[in-house]
Amino acid sequence: MTAIVSNLQAVHIAIEQALQSAMRGTADVKLLAVSKTFPAPSVREAYEGGQHEFGESYVQEALGKMATLSDLAIVWHYIGPVQSNKTRDIAENFAWVHGVDRLKIAQRLSEQRPTGMPALNICLQVNVSGEASKSGVVPQEVVGLAQEVSKLPNIKLRGLMAIPAPIDDEVAQRKPFAHLRQLSQEIGEQGIVLDTLSMGMSHDFVAAIKEGATIIRIGTAIFGKRDYGENI
Ligand SMILES: *Cc1c(COP(=O)(O)O)cnc(C)c1O
Repeated sequence: MTAIVSNLQAVHIAIEQALQSAMRGTADVKLLAVSKTFPAPSVREAYEGGQHEFGESYVQEALGKMATLSDLAIVWHYIGPVQSNKTRDIAENFAWVHGVDRLKIAQRLSEQRPTGMPALNICLQVNVSGEASKSGVVPQEVVGLAQEVSKLPNIKLRGLMAIPAPIDDEVAQRKPFAHLRQLSQEIGEQGIVLDTLSMGMSHDFVAAIKEGATIIRIGTAIFGKRDYGENI
């Protein structure tokens, strides 16, 4: 068994344990493997180990891997910050976008989603850590943004996403995740049905699962430490 496949198995075991301790059903969480900076052969290795959904943060890098791996039935998620000049490539090539925090970006994605493709799945990124993060809509504005985004034709608003400031302690890690879940409930009370909480990374996914995460985004624990210098 390769290192990537054995790491995947270890992550699945940790997910099951966290689900059990949270009294949540098995298979209640989708694992998104974050493959940014790792080359196509690593993605193929994970795919052959049973992992079919991958997250990428850099558009050009992702397009290269998509071309190389076009023989695989991969579901690609864009998880990086969305710049206006990248929306067309994103709308044309990904199934999900996790980092939307402005109406203008959502409008562009909707306009540029090719007809004939299924609606683009969107998560709104919320800044639940205050000063510590630059991206994400502020919590006070997320309900209004969700109302506007949910009206757009070629995208489907699925839920909320957050990247809290890194903390070691699990109790402290849970607070911003609980906040995101609370905001999702507030949006639900406005009649907008959401089914996704995209939260939790290698260092805090157990806390995220205990607060209701439905997608966790794991890179390091599957592929190892990233080397940004050589791979981009
Ligand atoms: C890189 C990245 C991840 C994965 O982080 P790890 O700590 O390596 O698990 C998750 N989410 C986003 C948005 C990322 O950019």
